[in-house]
Amino acid sequence: MTERTTEGGCMCGAIRYKAFGEPLGSGYCHCKSCRHHTGAPLVAYMVFTAKQVEWIPKAPASYESSPGKFRGFCRNCGTSLTWEGTHKGEKLVELHVGTLDNPEEFSPNEHTHFGERIDWLELKDNLPKFHASIE
Ligand SMILES: [Zn+2]
Ligand SMILES: [Zn+2]
Repeated sequence: MTERTTEGGCMCGAIRYKAFGEPLGSGYCHCKSCRHHTGAPLVAYMVFTAKQVEWIPKAPASYESSPGKFRGFCRNCGTSLTWEGTHKGEKLVELHVGTLDNPEEFSPNEHTHFGERIDWLELKDNLPKFHASIE
């Protein structure tokens, strides 16, 4: 059996990652912190356990955006790469889909923090919309 491998990295190439196996989930986040971290109106992410993700050659720099929640980025080019935190004792890494080598391989399954979205953002999908994150 071949395990799915998802690869990506930052704009300058200093930081690369591989994620092994299937993600736990995927979605769009509309929270203000994700907007600030990325400069984008929303973020598409895929969730993995930290154990599934290998960083090459090393993990990105991180900023603690709220207690226990970290935002990974490349110190050289500034690409925002991750949200990281702990859920039910498991360390999670959300990879930003925009940094995948093949972002078309995944599609988001839901919206989180939908109540914080920018109201000019028009969405015509039928995905479930949650006002808070799934916790
Ligand atoms: Zn970089
Ligand atoms: Zn968010």
